[in-house]
Amino acid sequence: MGRLNLLRLAALASLLNFIKAIPAGHKTFDYVVIGGGTAGLVVATRLSEDPGTTVAVIEAGPHHVNEPLVDTPELFSRALGNPAFDWRFVTTPQVNLDNAILPQPRGKMLGGSSGLNFIVWDRASQREYDAWEQLGATGWNWNSLLPYFKKSETVAPQLQADIFPQTSQPSEANFDAFHGRAGPVQPSYNVIYSNVTIPYVDAINSIGVPTNSDPYTGNATGVYNTEVAIDRVKNIGKRSYAASTYFNMSSDRPNLTVFLSTQATKINFDLGDSLGQMRASSVDVVAVNSTGTTGRIFARKEVILSGGAFGTPHLLELSGECIGNPEILREAGIQTLIDLPAVGENLQDHPSFTQDFEVKNTLFTYDLLRNNVTFNASQEAEYAESGTGLLANVQFVLTFSPLKDLISSQLLSTVQDDATKLINAPGTSPLARRQHRITRDFLTADDVANVEFIMFPGGGRTRVAPAPGSAYITVYTCLMHPFSRGSVHVNTSDPLASPQIDPSYLDNDIDRQLALQGVKLARTITQTEPLNALVVSDHSPGANVTTDADWIEFTKGFLTTTYHPIGTAAMLPRELGGVVDPLTLKVHGTDNLRVVDASLMPMLIATHPQSTVYAIAERASDIIRGRIFGY
Ligand SMILES: Cc1cc2nc3c(=O)[nH]c(=O)nc-3n(C[C@H](O)[C@H](O)[C@H](O)COP(=O)(O)OP(=O)(O)OC[C@H]3O[C@@H](n4cnc5c(N)ncnc54)[C@H](O)[C@@H]3O)c2cc1C
Repeated sequence: MGRLNLLRLAALASLLNFIKAIPAGHKTFDYVVIGGGTAGLVVATRLSEDPGTTVAVIEAGPHHVNEPLVDTPELFSRALGNPAFDWRFVTTPQVNLDNAILPQPRGKMLGGSSGLNFIVWDRASQREYDAWEQLGATGWNWNSLLPYFKKSETVAPQLQADIFPQTSQPSEANFDAFHGRAGPVQPSYNVIYSNVTIPYVDAINSIGVPTNSDPYTGNATGVYNTEVAIDRVKNIGKRSYAASTYFNMSSDRPNLTVFLSTQATKINFDLGDSLGQMRASSVDVVAVNSTGTTGRIFARKEVILSGGAFGTPHLLELSGECIGNPEILREAGIQTLIDLPAVGENLQDHPSFTQDFEVKNTLFTYDLLRNNVTFNASQEAEYAESGTGLLANVQFVLTFSPLKDLISSQLLSTVQDDATKLINAPGTSPLARRQHRITRDFLTADDVANVEFIMFPGGGRTRVAPAPGSAYITVYTCLMHPFSRGSVHVNTSDPLASPQIDPSYLDNDIDRQLALQGVKLARTITQTEPLNALVVSDHSPGANVTTDADWIEFTKGFLTTTYHPIGTAAMLPRELGGVVDPLTLKVHGTDNLRVVDASLMPMLIATHPQSTVYAIAERASDIIRGRIFGY
């Protein structure tokens, strides 16, 4: 029996301890949390700190204990599309991408997408969080979130602070001001770096993007050495995610019950205490297995919905006599209880384009694992023995750049004019109009990135297979503040059917123009010294892509998600298109149904969102526990 299977067998034994059957008859808890994902486990852990409070978590997926596809950092992305880990959602045909239907993976397991993601642990700039409040999310800004970023993490010290050219080591005091030292998640820095890293950073510096020594301080632009959610202290070399951290802290509490492989299908309501308000009283569930057993779990105090940016609006709309847009619900055969047309709207995501470049095969890249059987075996043995080596690393080099520094002023003013036209277009909603004004200002800000370049030292990530014996670097170009707005909605009253997800990628001239400039810049980086001297060829999409028309075809044909959907239950005033009251996080029109997850974020931020989701959930827990004065 192989190593992976032995590990899995041990995992199965411990898993049996957690599984709770769907309750027969009445089972009542003070709080019922729907979705044991990134945010849901934070909330459940914090609420159950009070031994007198009972908390239930309803999670559609299993708990993967000692599962290499979750725990081993270097195996990131291998669980995508696997139903044991991934909801495997897809988009509707994307009209601006020749009707392509694209995957939209989401974690379906205890820990949710924090167990499926690519482990990057970073933050956006202060100005972007402050924009949430400017937009109408009262109380949500950089200063109010900073203590919660710190509360969620224990950052391991950076062992090679000078690995990036032009970097200086922050003082201890400065580091402590912005990084947590006692929180559950255990982010760290990589310990092994490819020798393509320094030439790559030098090339980025040469095109005008400086190195940022500490991007966690409120200015997240520049090229930098990112933290990754890899534990190097306790579970050495393993992914540090919501199930291995928050849930591990709370799993033995008698007042916390987790229903695994159990899907919530409907939230039931009574008339609330306040006039005209609804009160969530129970949740209907079904076992995600061949029995299909159904049941009902009752909430004495509150229901907290943490189903993620797709799961949360979907369940709101499904929730019977329901919450959402009456027209959409009528078509799906669902009667409307609370008229809240913003549910499922305002979907925003970072589109991404992947290119790879062959580099000299004498360089140290992840391709060595593929090309050299002996090296691969030695790395597997080292990882099994001590949790170290290349398998304990996910070495991305992140560059967040204000595009104004990289494009001509003439092009910048064309993009600004296009933004103004979109703001004034009759079809633009009042919420999008406000958001676009802020995003237009971001185009000329020094401290907000419009584009991200992610460099991974290794190949095999594009549609063109890597050649045996060759080495590559992969560069992902991602748009940070796209102007497109999509939606996620039910299309049938069947609760087990997937929602209709339409990110509406590249539906405007600005996004198309920024995508074009971004992918051309990715190639420019590789043609800049000292990196250029190491590049052998443009592997994908290939050197025959030269004209703007070619590049536009590439952006249409090769767009993927960066896996960062947000905004579909935005915390904003109801009249502006909000679903959730920012002060209480209660769904408008309800007394006791709160939302806590990525769907709350009213506007995209130039970062990978997981650490922000943890911070939101930590602050939300304090709101629910009445610890934030005034709420
Ligand atoms: C492939 C991928 C790569 C990513 N890479 C990164 C990265 O490198 N860095 C980063 O910062 N971010 C990354 N992200 C994004 C980040 O992981 C998410 O933004 C974040 O985890 C979302 O947290 P959440 O609590 O909103 O949702 P989730 O963590 O997805 O939690 C939702 C939970 O609810 C459950 N659920 C949903 N509906 C129901 C229902 N009806 N009944 C019961 N349970 C239900 C789900 O199974 C899931 O466990 C990535 C995401 C993915 C998918």
